[in-house]
Amino acid sequence: MTSVGGNSVQDSHLEAWVPRGLLTIPANVLEGRATAEGLCPMRIDWQAGRLRRVELIAIDASSPPQHVLLPRLVEPHAHLDKAFTWADFPNLSGSYSGALAANLLEHQQRTLLGVRQRAERALQLALQHGLRAVRSHVDSVGPHCDLSWEALLDLQRQWQDRLTLQLVALVPVEHWSTSAGKKLAQKVAASGGLMGGVLVPPCNGPAPRHALRKMLLLADQLGCAIDLHIDEANSHYATGVQQLLRVLDGIKVSVPITCSHASTLGLLPPAELCRIAERMADHQINVVALPMTNGWLLAKQPRRTPVERPIAPIHQLQVAGISVAVGGDNVQDPWFPAGNFDPLSLMAFSLPLAHLAPWQRLGLAPFTTAAAHLMDLAWDGTLQPGSPADLILVKASSWAELLAAKPDRRVLINGTWLDEQTMATTTST
Ligand SMILES: [Zn+2]
Repeated sequence: MTSVGGNSVQDSHLEAWVPRGLLTIPANVLEGRATAEGLCPMRIDWQAGRLRRVELIAIDASSPPQHVLLPRLVEPHAHLDKAFTWADFPNLSGSYSGALAANLLEHQQRTLLGVRQRAERALQLALQHGLRAVRSHVDSVGPHCDLSWEALLDLQRQWQDRLTLQLVALVPVEHWSTSAGKKLAQKVAASGGLMGGVLVPPCNGPAPRHALRKMLLLADQLGCAIDLHIDEANSHYATGVQQLLRVLDGIKVSVPITCSHASTLGLLPPAELCRIAERMADHQINVVALPMTNGWLLAKQPRRTPVERPIAPIHQLQVAGISVAVGGDNVQDPWFPAGNFDPLSLMAFSLPLAHLAPWQRLGLAPFTTAAAHLMDLAWDGTLQPGSPADLILVKASSWAELLAAKPDRRVLINGTWLDEQTMATTTST
């Protein structure tokens, strides 16, 4: 029998630090019991895949908990169909146009086996790093879009016991007005997917509004949630979101709407941002901020380090009452050469890029509860009796240790440690 932090791997309980924002215990009970970083010493018991008890413990000064406990996390915005294509289709200029050109070239040469192998590698990493759900956009126009869907739907079925995979059809918004687009929408709806779209500048005038209106009505009719790539740019601040708001002012849509990127909102004057954020909140629009790819691709100029960054203004949107999640977006493809489907690494990089401090409730929510809400998952990620025994146990006793490079972690899925599952599979085959 091996042991981790004093707990035998056969135990169904452990003692660890839990972030205060993930507990449902009343604040007055936690008062004075958390560290300055908001970590609470807890004992967690689980049985039959569910948490049974979540209790505060007294700290023994000679042997305080050596681990931080988090729920398995979620990735609200990925691109599994193109992950790991950087080596064959690099974008050495690091520009948005260079990324698009390399992506289109890669799409011409895409194969079913290639998508399957790369997506499987991505899911394996996601699982090991502690993700329980991934929302992936899928290139859905062009010669090889059918094979991408075939490969990913197959993996969605194969992985459903380990990880939830949501798929979003990524097309230009106006594509949904065509007969091919309507056929695609039927297919997406039948497979439980989402309708996506790209809306980038200038997107002025009535044409984008007509396209958006048709897309929203079609999605509403089919019951498909929407997730848009919108205002991922460095000019024409928030024109996409403003077009969307004008359309929503005129029609009633009951499916959830997510704006991914929303980067140029961050460049608006404060009063204007405040007005737009309030209207977004009125329409219950969610936002996925993608600081890594926006930080890499946008505002790029030769031999100039950008100081002003187009990035979703996460704090200001939260203040307006908008649910904001943070996603990793592209991984080792023409749009971004780094990344590895590691939510803890994403959390660490979001410190300097987005000023998100995970020891603050609103700094942690974009990676936990807000991301789960946005993906409409059954569990919001809070740890209370009855929650799934789906956890990440990190060898750390502070946020600084947790955010250090490559933290040592174990993943508990449905009450069983992932490394034990792997051992059992290996021994039985
Ligand atoms: Zn994306």
